[in-house]
Amino acid sequence: MNAANATAISGHQQLANQLIEAIRQLAARGWTPATSSNFSGRIDAGHALITASGGDKGRLTPDDFLVVDMDGQVIGSQRRSSAETLLHTQLYRRFPEIGCVLHTHSHNQTVASRLYARSGALMLGGYELLKAFSGHATHEDSVELPVLPNTQDMPLLAARVEALMVSAEDDHLPVPGYLIEGHGLYAWGRDIDEAMRHLEAIEFLIGCELDLRRLGA
Ligand SMILES: [Zn+2]
Repeated sequence: MNAANATAISGHQQLANQLIEAIRQLAARGWTPATSSNFSGRIDAGHALITASGGDKGRLTPDDFLVVDMDGQVIGSQRRSSAETLLHTQLYRRFPEIGCVLHTHSHNQTVASRLYARSGALMLGGYELLKAFSGHATHEDSVELPVLPNTQDMPLLAARVEALMVSAEDDHLPVPGYLIEGHGLYAWGRDIDEAMRHLEAIEFLIGCELDLRRLGA
């Protein structure tokens, strides 16, 4: 571990280790291909711990994490954070209750993001697993998972996410996540466990919808 980064993340080893274990599970499922994807956990009101750009997500160590402020600037290290850091910090800035943001590039997420890009959303209804999302008490609910156009312009993408939040009831999306076309999924929760539950539920529901399409249902 380089000395500067060691100092920056010291005190956050436990959070780093919890994230490493969760990310290892996601990598083992093939949801982080070719060093893609990024993950973060909130440290406090003004800081988050986030994976550095690149690297095999199945073999992370605490040295692969950076401390960033809520503008996405790296603190205490010369290393670069992912260009997508802004999409994590905008969620922490806006929602004090969010404690973890997970971004993956699974096959299902990528295929669905292309298939439903034109309609701008994937409708999810009639699934018992909708109960995995807070505030949804029954399978009779029908909710939209938004699909945003992809761009390398992160401030523009962040502005599109902000517009989604503003248009949502109570500023909260009914599903704690969104797809980006041809790219992947962002999902979040109060802590790592809740964010994992949300991510797994969204991935499962997307897989069901894709199978129904394949079967012509
Ligand atoms: Zn990505």
